Amino acid sequence: MLKGAGDMGKNYRVELVGVFGDPVDDNPTGVMEEAAFAACGLNYRYLTMKVKEEDLDPAMKSIKALNMKGMNLTMPHKIKVIPYLDDLSEAAQIIGAVNTIIVRKDGTLFGENTDGKGFVQALKNKGITSEDKQVVILGAGGAAKAIAVECALAGAKKVTIFNRTVEKAQALADTVTAHTKAAAEGRKWESELAIPEGTDILINATSIGFSPNVTARPDIFYGTVTEHMVVCDVVFHPAETEFLKSCGKQGAKTVNGLGMLACQGALNFTLWTGEEAPLDVMEETLRKEFSEE
Ligand code: NDP
Repeated sequence: MLKGAGDMGKNYRVELVGVFGDPVDDNPTGVMEEAAFAACGLNYRYLTMKVKEEDLDPAMKSIKALNMKGMNLTMPHKIKVIPYLDDLSEAAQIIGAVNTIIVRKDGTLFGENTDGKGFVQALKNKGITSEDKQVVILGAGGAAKAIAVECALAGAKKVTIFNRTVEKAQALADTVTAHTKAAAEGRKWESELAIPEGTDILINATSIGFSPNVTARPDIFYGTVTEHMVVCDVVFHPAETEFLKSCGKQGAKTVNGLGMLACQGALNFTLWTGEEAPLDVMEETLRKEFSEE
């Protein structure tokens, strides 16, 4: 029998989680969460739901009405959901966006942002931390913001953000310096960007290289990537991007976006169920999912 809310006798009631977004058709999170629930014998379902921007209000009411355990948010709801929440994690407050809601036992709603936490965890799983490190981030969008804030909260010495729209890089650097102990600067991403000397961790936080544009790679001078660097990509499909391959050829250690996505899903799983997540099942499910396309 599946493990449900009641541990005594039969319990056919399903526990609901899922994601609200628009567009949401390409969101692969449900596949890995459902595989994890099945592997752990949990009677949970992950519903991937198209919710238009103007329908967030009834959708949020449905969380309580359907007695859901939690929810993921993706575009366009990550910021607009905040007024509906009772509490926010420190990271979600600083980032100003929520990708995960946890319904607490008393029915109140807690907002978390696991994008950056998944990244930090994926690094940790490879024995790497951002503590005292110089971190360079390419891009200044939602993923970059979550990663910059979590790296800074985890003790990074300095975070440098390069973006083609420099104002966004500077605004993110200002957020990091205002709320964490890390030094931060935002700079213009020029063509053939030279990666600054002393960089420990280099991250592509743009969508460059995402399938089907698999031959694209960020416009940097790859000769400035060294074997002393750890290089990470947020792009998860394909798992081994041109960016990671090129940096790997320079001798850098690489960490892919698929691991980050799986770690993020694992964090959500634990926040909702209270159980340890089967990370290997989740990662393998994603790998299989993408290899079948
Ligand atoms: P946003 O749209 O918020 O930000 C995109 C960023 O990429 C911007 O800084 C943008 O620059 C920059 N950019 C895009 N194209 C180019 C280009 N051709 N040259 C230079 N810069 C470019 O997107 P998100 O931050 O939400 O997502 C980024 C990627 O991260 C996506 O591929 C997403 O799938 C992935 N992701 C992966 C996760 C994981 O767990 N692995 C989790 C979350 C996201 P500008 O500001 O100048 O427009």
